[in-house]
Amino acid sequence: MLSEFDLIARFFARPQETAGQVALGIGDDCALLRPTTGTQLAISTDMLVESRHFFADADPFDLGHKCLAVNLSDLAAMGARPVAFTLALSLPDANPEWLAPFAQGMFALADANRCALIGGDTTKGPRTISITVFGEVAPHASLRRDAARVGDDIWVSGNLGDARLTLAALRKEIDLSEEDLAQSAPRMHRPAPRNALGQALAGVAHAAIDVSDGLAGDIKHVLQRSQCGARLNVDALPVGGALAKQVQALRRAFALTGGDDYELCFTAAPAQRERILAAAAAAATPVTRVGTIESDPGLRLVDEHGALYTLDGASFDHFLAP
Ligand code: ADP
Ligand code: MG
Repeated sequence: MLSEFDLIARFFARPQETAGQVALGIGDDCALLRPTTGTQLAISTDMLVESRHFFADADPFDLGHKCLAVNLSDLAAMGARPVAFTLALSLPDANPEWLAPFAQGMFALADANRCALIGGDTTKGPRTISITVFGEVAPHASLRRDAARVGDDIWVSGNLGDARLTLAALRKEIDLSEEDLAQSAPRMHRPAPRNALGQALAGVAHAAIDVSDGLAGDIKHVLQRSQCGARLNVDALPVGGALAKQVQALRRAFALTGGDDYELCFTAAPAQRERILAAAAAAATPVTRVGTIESDPGLRLVDEHGALYTLDGASFDHFLAP
């Protein structure tokens, strides 16, 4: 049986942790970071609980990836560069067959984003994974929710609704071909946080949020904080190949309300369109213009002909059912 310290040493402590901005990594009472002069520290925590956020039999590699991905996504949405993270783990047992792939999935993404694991806590209990990420962003460049301005374009990255499409297929709410499922499923299991794009947008875009609970719901947080409204063209929302084949009502509903996408929704002045497209190209992440910030409070959805569109049609309710 592994002790708590053996477990940390074997799976989580790594030599490269005291490089760059990490002055002291795992093993002491605190980690020590070297902050970059003149930047602000961006901090965020996200917790994943078994049976609530993932199934007991979830693939541990994917889970290791995902619990860090959802945290990195918050840094992306702030325009911050990832620096380090801490990991608080509650586990029912110290099972190496679960811990090894979990650590691999987590470190693969951590290394790709040069984000070092610098500490944490380990305890026995129901399986719960809580990560806190630390990032840096220049003052005035951060992408705050309260920074949208009337007249801004509204953009989204990548495409929306694939995680919801996958869930619908797994729940047998819809039939999806094996090929289509193979295309959409990785979006749910291994979401790609948009950190390159988020950093490239810092200082260029105004407000941003990462889409974790569905665009229609998440954008309202920006509108409330920024005291404005928005008009979204539901037919401009980018969807992947598998969702594009579905009927229009489902396509719109999943793109608007599907959770777990981890795309960025951001606003920027129309004068910045070229810079936004250049940032997207540099980050190799497609972006699509989907609406406009308006002074009238509230979210107005319109279809491609400009007609008002409401979310609560009969075809939609079926897919809202828990
Ligand atoms: P303390 O008693 O001060 O809380 P611990 O004995 O819990 O310290 O942890 C010892 C060291 O291991 C600390 O540096 C802590 O940050 C690190 N640590 C504990 N659990 C983890 C984990 N799951 N991942 C990474 N580091 C961890
Ligand atoms: Mg501790």
